[in-house]
Amino acid sequence: MAEKPTAAFVLSLISGIFILLGGAVIAAIGATIFAFVPAVGIVLGVIGLASGVLVLVGAIMLYMHTEQHVTWGIIILVFSILSIFTSLGGFLIGLILGIIGGALGIAWKPQPMPFPGYVAGYPAGFGPYGPPPTPVAPSGYATPTTVGVSASTPTTAEVPAFCKNCGAALPPGVQFCPSCGTKVGV
Ligand SMILES: [Zn+2]
Repeated sequence: MAEKPTAAFVLSLISGIFILLGGAVIAAIGATIFAFVPAVGIVLGVIGLASGVLVLVGAIMLYMHTEQHVTWGIIILVFSILSIFTSLGGFLIGLILGIIGGALGIAWKPQPMPFPGYVAGYPAGFGPYGPPPTPVAPSGYATPTTVGVSASTPTTAEVPAFCKNCGAALPPGVQFCPSCGTKVGV
């Protein structure tokens, strides 16, 4: 629906019908007035009818070949305006609708296709790719959970493992060496 210039197509189609009717009236008037010169009446009628046909063709081509929307929009616009001279302006309705339809056709842009994964639920989950894999430690290495536990005790980080003075093993958190009494750290 949104990928077609529907509004421009419908307006231009109605415009073309009214310009065609205006052209038919011009043809009838021309045939009457210029009855003594049939060629003039025929030419007037043909030009008037052709304007309506061209607007109709422009509307259909605009709808079928949307990539040429600028070209057909201009054709609708130009022949709608020319209908002032050729087809009584399509009783004014054809003129106005043709100008609007042609302008809409020129300005029309195709709707960009939304990324399917995004609409399908990318914000809610992880789309078609599924949840992220749970980390698995390679064989021979400790599992990640034990690393996390030991890292969450930061007080032991500053305490040296052994006394600088006597070399005795120090329990975590002590300020003085339990063996020789030297201050730990610094
Ligand atoms: Zn010591």
